[in-house]
Amino acid sequence: MRIDTASSPAAPERGDFIRDIVSGDLRAGRVGTVVTRFPPEPNGYLHIGHAKSICLNFGIAQEFGGRCHLRFDDTNPVKEEQEYIDSIQADVRWLGFDWGRHLYYASDYFEQLYSWAVDLVRAGRAYVDDLSADETREHRGTLTEPGRNSPFRDRPVDENLDLFERMRSGEFANGARVLRAKIDMASPNINLRDPVLYRIVHAAHPRTGDAWSIYPTYDFAHGQSDAIEGVTHSICTLEFEDHRPLYDWLIENLPVPSRPRQYEFARLNLTYTVLSKRVLLRLVNEGFVRGWDDPRMPTISGLRRRGFPAEGIREFAAMIGVAKADSVVEVGQLEHAVRNVLNQTAPRRFAVLDPLRVVIENYPEGQVEEMDVVNNPEDPSAGSRRVAFGRELWIERDDFMEEPPAKFFRLAPGREVRLRSAYFVTCREVVKDASGAVVELRCTYDPATRGGDSPDGRRPKATLHWVSGAHAVPAEVRLYDHLFSRPDPGAAGRDLFADLNPTSETVLQGCLVEPALTGARTGDTVQFERLGYFAPDPDSAPGHVVFNRTLTLKDTWAKLQAQGRHDTT
Ligand code: ATP
Ligand code: MG
Repeated sequence: MRIDTASSPAAPERGDFIRDIVSGDLRAGRVGTVVTRFPPEPNGYLHIGHAKSICLNFGIAQEFGGRCHLRFDDTNPVKEEQEYIDSIQADVRWLGFDWGRHLYYASDYFEQLYSWAVDLVRAGRAYVDDLSADETREHRGTLTEPGRNSPFRDRPVDENLDLFERMRSGEFANGARVLRAKIDMASPNINLRDPVLYRIVHAAHPRTGDAWSIYPTYDFAHGQSDAIEGVTHSICTLEFEDHRPLYDWLIENLPVPSRPRQYEFARLNLTYTVLSKRVLLRLVNEGFVRGWDDPRMPTISGLRRRGFPAEGIREFAAMIGVAKADSVVEVGQLEHAVRNVLNQTAPRRFAVLDPLRVVIENYPEGQVEEMDVVNNPEDPSAGSRRVAFGRELWIERDDFMEEPPAKFFRLAPGREVRLRSAYFVTCREVVKDASGAVVELRCTYDPATRGGDSPDGRRPKATLHWVSGAHAVPAEVRLYDHLFSRPDPGAAGRDLFADLNPTSETVLQGCLVEPALTGARTGDTVQFERLGYFAPDPDSAPGHVVFNRTLTLKDTWAKLQAQGRHDTT
């Protein structure tokens, strides 16, 4: 597997082969206004691969002063649902794009598409075929052998017209007949071996209800929908390259109002995850995750719930660019882009995930001080906040060791550390329970070090975060790791589901966070100092705060790059 770590950071004006084509068309006057479209099938939630396509299509429209349509490719009612239509619109908007009044549905064109299919039948370029699915497969041939004509291929036009109309009116069972284009069963391109244009599907459609018993195939609906909308550049992923001759054949043989052209780019693949709605749907339906928006899912709604900002996803899309060769992108690169944004924007907060009690013996009982704490050292305009400090505090359990090894500089018996933006404290005594577990540290503080500096220039080797015992709010914190334990899930014939990471989610109870975090809402991603980025989860309820770990602070991709590694398996 080739993993691409060589891309350079975003440069907004940077070109790619599609932008070159678009600007060439504009310069040569072949195109007046650039019109692109994003054409999801509403059969699942959008994922990060779709985000790449959205950023490309809407991005090009923006950069070249054109427009981008959102068009639902809703031609298969068996798998499509209103829930998906709604989520797709919400996700595209959240990513920061706007289709204005250009919201379309392939189903709006069903009547027009049907009448064009009738035109093809009249012109002797399409026929109704009665072969069964198995027989059709048998006649299709292979990559090395030509196909064979169906015995129904030369049906008279009138018979075809009659049968096609009866297919429409619902007279025949699912699969009994199809309408096929009459092109060339010997074509080296299998897509041109009399492709199916209409199939019989007795199913209610989310928008057209029971009006239709036949539905156009993707191949028949797609290019014609582009032509109806005046799309100039129909940009899709590489797997449709072999469909382009059919796309062009249909555009040439139908009285369509415009002549769009199709261009293909490499789809996004990411390590440690899977970008396929079919697989993601199974993960949801079979209960491997909490839903389409589970923070481990590569869906846009999952990334949002996890705390990824839209800007980070857009930066990632710009960073990886658009190419014509398939590759796999390190998920670390996405995380790197997101950290870059969060480092600038996420307010810093105090939270203790595994609390250990600290009592400051020489601090007056009942006294509370409001310490001034900087919100974001990267952004002075973020200002500062007041955090209550008192005699009883909580620190992170692993910030203390009774018998510290040489390189452990944090708290230990007799040792002094700084509590961030508060005071220097020294550990005087370790309190244990009957089993010998450490349950409390008795410390003293130096009143001269208020704010975190000592007048005598003393500099402790460690600075710890903390929360006040009297003020901290309990929280549930969910730690997330990759959904799959391998970079290439399901590769080499392995069962995809056997590659799921059994520890992709760890739920911590009894964490303690700053009171300022109680009202936080989805999208308010913060940095828990020294721990990582965290985002409030919608499962939060009054009295029960839930946070998701968006990312740790450690940037593995930056490290990989520094080591000059460009290939991993
Ligand atoms: P999946 O393979 O996940 O089921 P799909 O291609 O069936 O996706 P569509 O709803 O048809 O999903 O996709 C809408 C648009 O998004 C298409 O133009 C498609 O080419 C593009 N797209 C889908 N997956 C990716 C990806 N991984 N990278 C880039 N673009 C993608
Ligand atoms: Mg598709």
